[in-house]
Amino acid sequence: MNQQKSKELYEEAVNYLPGGVNSPVRAYKPYPFFAQKAKGSKIYDVDGNEYIDYCLGYGPIVFGHANDYIVEQSINQLKLGTDYGVPSEKEIALAKEVINRVPCAEMVRFTNSGTEATMSAIRLARGVTGKNKIIKFEGAYHGAHDAVLVKSGSGAAGKPDSPGIPEEATRNTILAPFNDENAITKIINENKDEIACIIAEPVMGNIGCVPPKEGYLQFLREITEENNILLIIDEVITGFRISKGGAQEYYDITPDLATFGKIVGGGFPIGAIAGKKEYMEQFTPSGNIYQAGTFSGNPMSINGGLAAFDILTDKRYKELHDKGDYLRNGIQDILSNLNLDYQINGVESMTQVYFTNNEVYDYETAQKSDTKGFLKYFHNLLENGVFIAPSQYECTFISTEHSKEDLDKTLEAIEISLKEL
Ligand SMILES: *Cc1c(COP(=O)(O)O)cnc(C)c1O
Repeated sequence: MNQQKSKELYEEAVNYLPGGVNSPVRAYKPYPFFAQKAKGSKIYDVDGNEYIDYCLGYGPIVFGHANDYIVEQSINQLKLGTDYGVPSEKEIALAKEVINRVPCAEMVRFTNSGTEATMSAIRLARGVTGKNKIIKFEGAYHGAHDAVLVKSGSGAAGKPDSPGIPEEATRNTILAPFNDENAITKIINENKDEIACIIAEPVMGNIGCVPPKEGYLQFLREITEENNILLIIDEVITGFRISKGGAQEYYDITPDLATFGKIVGGGFPIGAIAGKKEYMEQFTPSGNIYQAGTFSGNPMSINGGLAAFDILTDKRYKELHDKGDYLRNGIQDILSNLNLDYQINGVESMTQVYFTNNEVYDYETAQKSDTKGFLKYFHNLLENGVFIAPSQYECTFISTEHSKEDLDKTLEAIEISLKEL
């Protein structure tokens, strides 16, 4: 495969952009391909190669790239302005959509990224409860802000904490293993009346794909309620992906607050905090817990989100579900034929294959995977026209635009790629 132009652009980019990229996970070795365009289930590089895309911008593009309807709606909005500095009617409409779909949502505050959403949600939890400590799970990623950059998956998985984060900033962040009830009980007992919130990815999507054990999210709900701790479910990946109402609907759980991002902007930058009115109203200006943003609720992102919600009907979710099953069953057959005992984890349109024989249910078990083997697999797939995120610790995503033909081609590529390891 010829990627000469990508190679040249990368060599140029490293002179002007740290590492040649604007977000670290993108910089895989020896150089990333540079995108030229993307449409539907496909992404194209500057050398004219076509890939079936399972990275999908790391999650947002559930409706497919350059979705005709969203493009049309966005062009209409573009002509009406992109930033007002005053409220606009569609902000109410998108908030209502979120409230209609999401169990915990009684009010919504839109931000520009998932990072801002979790940062503000944690501030809100601390402000509301008057307590400082937070519990986060090992390997969970909640964005790139100080308080949560401790054993946080994705690009940071396995690496030491970043320089530049004062110890004071993470002193109140307590780590817990996911899917372990005893660990949480112990932490809460040892920190009586000091914990403001537990923040959890309901399906961990930044150490691959790790679903909650049955009843685990309910356990978190009960123990937080009993101890006057707020439960924040970080649905930046799962929100509007694993079901119409996100993980809350899917697992039948109502947290105090939830954070969103990725999908809810219809492909434009966005984040959101949703939750109980009594808490949400404590954000400025109705309350005194500070939260702000120049581009927050900007008309392009809000309009994009509304267009996306028009598309994402029950029927679409059923299709996404079936495609996920089809892909996972196909991969399982291939693994069995090749006598490979690798783990397949997945929920609906989220899937990851772990290069390990051990069951993967938390950060530690995910760490047992053969990451070098996985990277080879990633490159083999790319050679065969399939783009997944270049790490064992990311998740693959399916869009509404992936056809059966795409999935069959992908399974062929997976078989070849595994055989060539
Ligand atoms: C991507 C992600 C974030 C951060 O969102 P950004 O928009 O990248 O700031 C937060 N939480 C989870 C679970 C994510 O996957």
